[in-house]
Amino acid sequence: MGRVDDDDTGKGTLRSAKDRALGPFRVRCLHCNTIAESWHRDSPTPKGAIIGMAYCQCGNVGADSLGFQDFGRVLFRNPNSYEVVTEKK
Ligand SMILES: [Zn+2]
Repeated sequence: MGRVDDDDTGKGTLRSAKDRALGPFRVRCLHCNTIAESWHRDSPTPKGAIIGMAYCQCGNVGADSLGFQDFGRVLFRNPNSYEVVTEKK
């Protein structure tokens, strides 16, 4: 105990995340055609933004931002009923 080790996996995570912009994670539900937009609490969020899990209108899919643009987890009831919405480059 008492070991100070700043060379663990946390550094690798930061390095790989360096190129990513903070922003929302969006998933479109192909059932109700609405977009679940999720923001991470550590990113600057616009007014009315949903922090954490966000669901589409019918509740089929959920988006959960991991803090970076277009990066997050998808929860779904039906596997082929959603698409991740990414910013056009
Ligand atoms: Zn839906």
